[in-house]
Amino acid sequence: MNVTVIGAGTMGNGIAHVFAQSGHAVTLVDLDQARLDAALATIDKNLGRQVAKEKLTAEQQEATLARVALKTDLAEGVAEADLVVEAATEDATLKAKIFEQIDDAAPPAAILASNTSSISITQIAGATRRPEQVIGMHFFNPVPVMKLVEVVRGLATSDATYETVRRLSEDLGKVPVEVNDAAGFVSNRVLMPMINEAVFCVHEGVATAEAVDTVMKLGMAHPMGPLTLADFIGLDVCLAILEVLHRELGEDKYRPCPLLRKMVAAGYLGRKSGKGFYDYA
Ligand code: NAD
Repeated sequence: MNVTVIGAGTMGNGIAHVFAQSGHAVTLVDLDQARLDAALATIDKNLGRQVAKEKLTAEQQEATLARVALKTDLAEGVAEADLVVEAATEDATLKAKIFEQIDDAAPPAAILASNTSSISITQIAGATRRPEQVIGMHFFNPVPVMKLVEVVRGLATSDATYETVRRLSEDLGKVPVEVNDAAGFVSNRVLMPMINEAVFCVHEGVATAEAVDTVMKLGMAHPMGPLTLADFIGLDVCLAILEVLHRELGEDKYRPCPLLRKMVAAGYLGRKSGKGFYDYA
């Protein structure tokens, strides 16, 4: 299958990696060549890790890399696609524009998927003339490692589109789970209120960040405490998703904790900024 991935950031390079590794011809599209080159280098490095662990041979590493083409022109990049997976920046206006462009340039039969974490698939589909072929394909970070794909059905998504994407996800070695289009889908609707409540515990002086994380790790057998996870995801990303949940679902229980807002305002974004609930200096 010809698969085009739009956006070569954290998620886009992982998505390109898993499709190429399972034998698909992948075209990776981003705004400039430097980002594309960086993404390809990351894919190479991550494949190298799999080789070191003897999960892959050096020949397979090379063959996988050779299946990834790079393009800065979106229309050219999707011209022969059977499937497009959009993993560009999380911005509803930007995604609407990108889907309009993809719809104009991709073959009529192509399925158009989005990896969005929080934007409505039905709304994204509305930017195209083929809403029945638009679907959410929500991968998790790091994509080559994480097994789950939330397959999100928009209001108009057809059974045929759903079935193709479900089968494809299984072929990638992933476990697809069917979810209807609603704010945060299942993953973030359940995860983000837990993270928010953990932040409230620190905010109200119930316990330290370390204590909250230890309770959830040792008491609930979570592999990582919620605040360590929040630092990993990015506190700005957590705040943005909570705001979507709060706005769309309209319930006070989704109100972002003031401490989370304060930390984001201070530039404490977690791992990526060197400081969040923990120090990464
Ligand atoms: P990122 O910032 O690492 O990468 C986004 C990329 O999109 C950038 O390289 C940017 O240059 C590119 N881009 C922006 N506009 C573009 C355009 N018009 N055409 C082509 N490329 C364009 O972001 P990310 O973390 O990889 O997230 C991408 C998507 O995946 C978002 O929708 C996000 O919600 C979703 N997501 C992220 C995670 C995560 O843990 N990071 C998990 C699941 C889903």
